Amino acid sequence: MSRVYLDHNATTPPRPQVVAAMVGALRACGNPSSPHSFGRAARKTVEDGRARVAALVGAEAEAVVFTGGGTEANALALAGAGRILVSAVEHDSVFGAVDGAEAIPVDARGVIDLAALEAMLAGEGRGEGRGRGRTLVALMLANNETGVLQPVAEAARLTHGRGALLHCDGTQAAGRIPVDMARLGADTLSLSAHKMGGPQGVGALVTAPHVTLVPQLRGGGQERRRRAGTENVPGIAGFAVAADLASRSLGRMGTLAGWRDRLEREIGTMAPVRFFGREALRLPNTSCFALEGVASEVQVMALDLAGVAVGAGAACSSGKTEPSRVLRAMGVEDGTSRCAIRVSLGWNSRAGDVDVFLAAWGAVTARRSLLPQ
Ligand code: PMP
Repeated sequence: MSRVYLDHNATTPPRPQVVAAMVGALRACGNPSSPHSFGRAARKTVEDGRARVAALVGAEAEAVVFTGGGTEANALALAGAGRILVSAVEHDSVFGAVDGAEAIPVDARGVIDLAALEAMLAGEGRGEGRGRGRTLVALMLANNETGVLQPVAEAARLTHGRGALLHCDGTQAAGRIPVDMARLGADTLSLSAHKMGGPQGVGALVTAPHVTLVPQLRGGGQERRRRAGTENVPGIAGFAVAADLASRSLGRMGTLAGWRDRLEREIGTMAPVRFFGREALRLPNTSCFALEGVASEVQVMALDLAGVAVGAGAACSSGKTEPSRVLRAMGVEDGTSRCAIRVSLGWNSRAGDVDVFLAAWGAVTARRSLLPQ
């Protein structure tokens, strides 16, 4: 049975060149903080990686702080802020990171309500600000469940107009659409290597020069005192190669969008499905839809038995059976969002993968009345 992986938003398979670079770095012993030649070689890998990751988002190398992934980058960006406003569709690593954050509503397409943001910025908040830090708005560039893109540049203008800072979670967007830190107007931007063909467990927070971070891991001088701990040298070596290849293959995303659109057209003819975020600007690789009456997990397992891996609507922390908070924020009833799945393509997808998916999904829809509700 040919197995097809259509869950790139959960994690992308590492590219072969990434694995090769990581094996090379693993074999070469050296702590980047050591002054001898072994250490200097490791330092070169880290600094070279910093420049290449920065280049992916049009930033200077010094702007990049390496972290243990997107979650840690988000936590670092939020640390030390006063009042925090987060979009209602943020990833849990932002939404659940701080107590007292205020949710900015989205419309039925999943796009942030800029008027609501403006009103919230103009208001006093709920008086739950955590200390004396500046107000921070967190707005992701692309949603992990629906792929919906947010008007980050407009939000940044409103935010800066009120003297507040904007953090952008670019984890799902980088490597899939062009991302330029300055054009976004973001003060901080999170990235994660494993969403762009790199390894898991390494990410970055890209930081504008005027931003002072509050380090979360202290006690070591690494990353210019912004993140203590020996750098993940093999991870950074892999991240660098992934960033290069992702930026070079952005042109292929139009092809993926064509395959995704064909998939959506064809499933629409097989069964009554409801698509989410289709009316908004979206990532080229993502489709999120519900097959009414068949729970997400049942669809995911049935497709897995047929050799096709997709995500349940409720994203990366699988095993969750609660309805998606993101879809709820878009006004989708829980009964429908419990039946949502996510198909996400990526660098190793082929046109034939869509055919394999359609055959497997067609078999699921045909058995619909027999499947557990
Ligand atoms: N933000 C978004 C939008 C994500 O999709 C993810 C990964 N699921 C993260 C942050 C967290 O990244 P990581 O897995 O590297 O911690």
